[in-house]
Amino acid sequence: MKAAAFDYVKPRALNEALSLLAQAGEDGQLIAGGQTLLATLNMRLSEPRVLIDISGITELKGISIAGNCLRIGALVTHTEIEDSELIAKHAPLLKAAAPHIAHRAIRNLGTWGGSLAYGDPAAEWPACSLTLRATMIIHGPAGERRIAANDFFIDLYTTSLEPDEILVATEIPIASKQEVFYFHELARRHGDYAVAGLGAVAQKQGDVLSNCAFTFFSVGATPVMAQTAQDLVNGKKLNDQLIAQAVAAARSEIDAIADITNSAETKQHLIGVLLERGLKHMIA
Ligand SMILES: Cc1cc2nc3c(=O)[nH]c(=O)nc-3n(C[C@H](O)[C@H](O)[C@H](O)COP(=O)(O)OP(=O)(O)OC[C@H]3O[C@@H](n4cnc5c(N)ncnc54)[C@H](O)[C@@H]3O)c2cc1C
Repeated sequence: MKAAAFDYVKPRALNEALSLLAQAGEDGQLIAGGQTLLATLNMRLSEPRVLIDISGITELKGISIAGNCLRIGALVTHTEIEDSELIAKHAPLLKAAAPHIAHRAIRNLGTWGGSLAYGDPAAEWPACSLTLRATMIIHGPAGERRIAANDFFIDLYTTSLEPDEILVATEIPIASKQEVFYFHELARRHGDYAVAGLGAVAQKQGDVLSNCAFTFFSVGATPVMAQTAQDLVNGKKLNDQLIAQAVAAARSEIDAIADITNSAETKQHLIGVLLERGLKHMIA
């Protein structure tokens, strides 16, 4: 199929993009890397009257340090994250996750902000942003607002972004020296969306993990934090018994949802497999 006809505009500044979005109302749609949107246009799942291409807007680009945070512009591509020294040093979870996103050709075009805004529960960046306690920086007609990743992902492909808003950047607290992390996903083939995945971070002191964040993806309508498992592990000496308790807690607190090829039971099982591997890895 081919996309329905649409007008195309390419603003050069954020303010211009915001007014074009306001003028277009329900009929306008932003395009960044196009790696998700072009498919939905071609399948006519989305039929905007005006496509607003934000890929030339400098304010949305770049990775930088902002105080004690790492600021990642919405237009930063998956490849830029994979190759960035700042990311490797200050948010190594993202570097570990990036190669799991599709294939290099898609990573060269697809963007951090596009992935977060789309809110695919099987995608890597929404889960990582929750684990890393990211703050989303959003601009709209009323100016700037900030929202924690925890409140951003609302439901299947649904975020707190309003139709007249643009995700500008994300801030992530810089990893401390004690921070350990684990990223893994179980997929049929490399580059496929995960059957189930886990992005985890914690502070490690000896055999004790604290300030744990364990986020599972591709198991529910949004990325899901295993809060009970985190609370169980936080501040205690990690041994086989505690790992088994955390695995049982994560399996019971997350209500996994089946997808077209994998049952809810399979995903529930994989949640435990991933968490056990993750805890053993982080404490090693
Ligand atoms: C074959 C294939 C395999 C893939 N595999 C994976 C995978 O394994 N893991 C994964 O995570 N992704 C995967 N993707 C998706 C890819 O990562 C996309 O790049 C990403 O999901 C969207 O980024 P984009 O820049 O291309 O967004 P676009 O396609 O341009 O836009 C996506 C949506 O976000 C909105 N949007 C974009 N930017 C903003 C913004 N700044 N503010 C507000 N709204 C915005 C658009 O209006 C649109 O609704 C795959 C894609 C393909 C084609």
